[in-house]
Amino acid sequence: MTLSVSSRVAFVGAGPGEADLITVRGAQRLQEADVVLFDSLADPALRQLAPNARWIDVGKRGFTGVAHAPRSGGRENTGQDTINALLVKHARSGARVVRLKGGDPSVFGRLEEELEALAAAGIECEVVPGVTAALAAAAATQRPLTRRGAGRSVALTTAMTKSGDLVAGRHADTESFYMAGKQLAALSRRLVAAGWPTDTPVVVVSRAGWPDQIATDHDVATLGNATVLHSGRPTIVTVGVGAAPVQGERATTPAGATPWAERAISTP
Ligand code: SAH
Repeated sequence: MTLSVSSRVAFVGAGPGEADLITVRGAQRLQEADVVLFDSLADPALRQLAPNARWIDVGKRGFTGVAHAPRSGGRENTGQDTINALLVKHARSGARVVRLKGGDPSVFGRLEEELEALAAAGIECEVVPGVTAALAAAAATQRPLTRRGAGRSVALTTAMTKSGDLVAGRHADTESFYMAGKQLAALSRRLVAAGWPTDTPVVVVSRAGWPDQIATDHDVATLGNATVLHSGRPTIVTVGVGAAPVQGERATTPAGATPWAERAISTP
């Protein structure tokens, strides 16, 4: 394990949304970069931190310029092998490479594969953490994920398996689900089946950390109602103790304001 600051490749967490949610260290690595391999979730404003670097879009949706081989089962290749190859190629050319990832690189970010590819090539790297979406959702809603006495554990979970099936369990007092935004009604059923009481609080936050972030309150039984409002947006579903409002929260809502359940939050 190398902690050198002169590593050829820095994995940098861009944070969940607007550019100023990146860490100071992450911004410094961008300033030093010759090549930036970035994902589609990153704020374009981050480019101002490295205006002279070569920016290469390797986001799963915006991945152009490289062949996508069809996978067995007819699904499109995510290009992960190509990303690995690009990392190695640019690092070997002597460039300082930043691999910019949405949120935190270590959370559902395919970091394992990319670290392995660099290790196999003998290339030094470092990982700069970022704000993961579940934490941005907690900040957006002012719902602490841990609560003294009642909320002692937090799980970061994806309900999606590698084969595309939806599964849910009950692993912690507060559980934050990634990548389930398209299947909220099914997630509701899976949560009930996993033993969550139907009246357990659930808060759904989409585009956390962006000016148009939206949060809505539900419970495990009514989670499916969130589908339309959050459709097509990156979404975190937080279930359990940490999804409940803190005492007095509703008192801060101005009289006559739109009820929380339909209210778009943070529109500065
Ligand atoms: N590494 C990222 C997660 C990548 S997986 C992180 O640490 O946040 C992509 C999933 O993350 C999305 O399907 C969604 O569930 C979640 N996500 C990413 N950005 C988000 C945002 N701004 N608001 C809500 N959820 C987000």
